[in-house]
Amino acid sequence: MSDKKFLVIYGSQTGQSEAIAERIALDSESLGLEAELVCGEELVGEMDRLDNQVAVFVVSSTGEGDPPENFESFWSALHDTTPQNLKYTLLGLGDSNYTEFGGFPNSLKQLLDEAGAKSFYEYQLADDQVGLELVVEPWIEGLWDPLKQALSGTSSFLSLQLDQSLLDKLSNLDIDRDLPKSKQMFQYEFCKEDFTLSFPEGVNKFILPFAAGSLEKSIILKKTCLTERSEKTKETYEMEFATSDVYGPGDSFGMLCENRECEVWDLLKRLKLEDKAHKKYSLTPDPSIKPHLLPKHILRQCSPYYALKYTLDIRSLPKKALLVLLAEHCVDKREGDCLRYLSSKEGSKDLNEVIYSRSLTLLELLSLFPSCLPPFCSLLQHLPRLTPRYYSVSRLSEHGVKFVFNHVTNIRGTVGELPAVPGVCSSWLRELKEGDCVYVYRRKNTGLKPVLGDGGMVMVGAGTGVAPYLAFLDYVAQSNAESKTMLITGNRYEKLDSIYREEFLKFQSDGVLQSYLTAYSRDADSTCCYVQDCIKQHAQLVMEYLDEGARVYVCGDAKGLSVGVHEMFCSVLSESKCVSVEEAKEIISCMRKEGRYCEDIWS
Ligand code: FAD
Repeated sequence: MSDKKFLVIYGSQTGQSEAIAERIALDSESLGLEAELVCGEELVGEMDRLDNQVAVFVVSSTGEGDPPENFESFWSALHDTTPQNLKYTLLGLGDSNYTEFGGFPNSLKQLLDEAGAKSFYEYQLADDQVGLELVVEPWIEGLWDPLKQALSGTSSFLSLQLDQSLLDKLSNLDIDRDLPKSKQMFQYEFCKEDFTLSFPEGVNKFILPFAAGSLEKSIILKKTCLTERSEKTKETYEMEFATSDVYGPGDSFGMLCENRECEVWDLLKRLKLEDKAHKKYSLTPDPSIKPHLLPKHILRQCSPYYALKYTLDIRSLPKKALLVLLAEHCVDKREGDCLRYLSSKEGSKDLNEVIYSRSLTLLELLSLFPSCLPPFCSLLQHLPRLTPRYYSVSRLSEHGVKFVFNHVTNIRGTVGELPAVPGVCSSWLRELKEGDCVYVYRRKNTGLKPVLGDGGMVMVGAGTGVAPYLAFLDYVAQSNAESKTMLITGNRYEKLDSIYREEFLKFQSDGVLQSYLTAYSRDADSTCCYVQDCIKQHAQLVMEYLDEGARVYVCGDAKGLSVGVHEMFCSVLSESKCVSVEEAKEIISCMRKEGRYCEDIWS
């Protein structure tokens, strides 16, 4: 991707979109940009031209929200394509006289978003009924800055600059030049030949934490989106994979994942390693370093691409030792001083402000210090391993195992000045198709197991945390045993993201599930917002279960779930038993020790 070239892709029925697209292409020339003007159908057969591109779409709607004729074949090809690192914006043309105003541009936007393309400038819909120019003119006027920003550099991350106030501060400081020097753990040399192993060959057992089974290659049998597509909800998918291992209800597994292709290549480019990306390198440990201190996940023979793609966490927050290393490799003295300052005691507050509080990635950190070029193998030793991600089994099927995952759209949580960074594993999983392979292993069970009879079960789950309970209830149903079960679920909306609701209702009508309580945090008419509210509202019923000796399970991805639910159980217990909250805590603590209060919380 060059920092000048971009695509203008149009789909036009009457010629209006084409004319606007031509105008954008022409105007961009005077700004020093190079637009390639193409009609949608011209890209069919070469859809990979969308990869690592910046594209401006101008399309209209025809009929009942259909694509224009010269866009139809592109539209159907796009359904089978997942463009890598596509940044786009879209101007839609429609006519509010028709019932489906802007129907097609809306569908195109949805599909592009689902395919992982990133919008770099606001989507707008112009209405022919009131005059297209009312929207088109200001939209084009506002396009150029975000377009230039999207084109700036080839990075999938924002290019950052150091804050002037920090630089000013540095000039008044006496930077401590006696900071410890970074210690190189390995000597390395590149070999002539390429590194030919394919993932996960060569990876070692240290990347399989908490393993209870061995690593197996599994085929994805099915993938389904469980939630309504809406900006209000997280996308949740159910996936089924084949396995020859024996899983039980309450089990979870580790899934090996890989870093995003565009991030890996951005980093390789930034480190000037594009030419050597697949070359084999060989590491020799420094003899002065005790073998047990050498990071075990670092492969002694590997290639920069393989190491960055499959073995290292390139998103980890930079530690001070890494800053010291980077400081040693800055050509610009001021940049080096700044890094030294940030890694010093005095610089802690600024380090937090500049890097940690913004969760800067390594790439973003490097963009702050353009003159810094650390040697690859020194960098290696500062990056932690890329850990597998864990998922709970939601159902044991005839051919394998099902699980659900949320697409993490931004690891930074809130939308701020920095662009969204999607979760590594969930965004990779989201791109996989049925028939693709994954590498998984069964994880040690931490005590989350259904128990039949014995007082019954109170299962509390929020978000994807309800998933294990489907397997629990299947187990109860298959056993035909008399077992009292209560399920308390928490979601945002009953209609949009309440996963497995139908299945739970069926269990209820079949008598497998006796009490099914629901909380919806965003439905205005819901009587309970959070699972804790359900516990409070149905305190008497909950206490009946606890008095009969029910086991309590708490699972989920919601922040504060564990604490909130624990507090509510204590409060309900304290009120019902007329004991102090401290005594109630003691009761829960005993339940925990006896394995009668189990938690699996993952955020
Ligand atoms: P990463 O790149 O690892 O980024 C995660 C970071 O993003 C977190 O540190 C957090 O700060 C932030 N973040 C923002 N929103 C979220 C969010 N909604 N979820 C997680 N992190 C968020 N996940 C499931 O979806 N389904 C499961 O059944 C499931 N079971 C689990 C069982 C166990 C025992 C454990 C330990 C975890 C489980 N998880 C489950 C969580 C899962 O392992 C991953 O953490 C999750 O998919 C995010 O991984 P990622 O690589 O996409 O994100």
